[in-house]
Amino acid sequence: MSELSPGIYLVSTPIGNLGDLSERQIEILTDCDIIACEDTRRSKKILVKLKIKTRVISYHEHNELRKSQTLIDYVLNEKSVAVVSDAGTPGISDPAYRVVSEGIKNNIPIIPIPGPCSIITALVASGLPTDSFVFEGFLPQKGEKRRGKIETLLNENRTVVLFESPFRIHKLVDEIALLDSERKIVIARELTKVYEEFIRGTSLEVSQLLGNRKLKGEIVVIIDRKKRTKID
Ligand code: SAM
Repeated sequence: MSELSPGIYLVSTPIGNLGDLSERQIEILTDCDIIACEDTRRSKKILVKLKIKTRVISYHEHNELRKSQTLIDYVLNEKSVAVVSDAGTPGISDPAYRVVSEGIKNNIPIIPIPGPCSIITALVASGLPTDSFVFEGFLPQKGEKRRGKIETLLNENRTVVLFESPFRIHKLVDEIALLDSERKIVIARELTKVYEEFIRGTSLEVSQLLGNRKLKGEIVVIIDRKKRTKID
């Protein structure tokens, strides 16, 4: 039994740069009884580097429903369970929501251990308004659903943050440019990593900047809010 009090600890982990691990994150991962990982092999790489020997189990989108109860049972048996995703904050386009909502129903403590999150990291450096924003996750990949969603997002009065794959980023920028070539957008790529890059401009400018360039790595896209029509 560890010294940590029983509960579900939502431990954020780096989104690329291991230097972003905090003292508190390392302490929780070292001292908890079990670490529930989205991908045990990926998390083990960090744990080995940190010489953390805590037992790991898997907790991912395909077993989330069943495993949430297992994690809750551990806590009900006085164990401390850390939940980590492959990168960033658990629960943000990553598993954790289920164990948190079910855990609350079971009256067990939920303890967030804050840290890196690609959404906030991208947003704050985008240069677009940060006072109110909406996060969309991944867009539908194609078809009417995707087009409709993009149209809706271009009508947003809040800054829009979303994830896009490097394989569809040109397509997305062109889709936006077709609907609103003057809309400011920012591509935030490989945040906190060696090839970190921000591409800023109107959708048309960003489309031209991208040209035939193949973008690699992970990407967050930030879209400026719809300009409010001035009513006299
Ligand atoms: N929970 C994570 C977080 O808090 O950042 C997000 C997980 S989501 C499944 C993975 C997506 O996050 C990637 O496809 C990419 O869009 C974005 N992402 C994660 N790390 C990133 C990075 N270092 N740079 C840019 N985008 C990143």
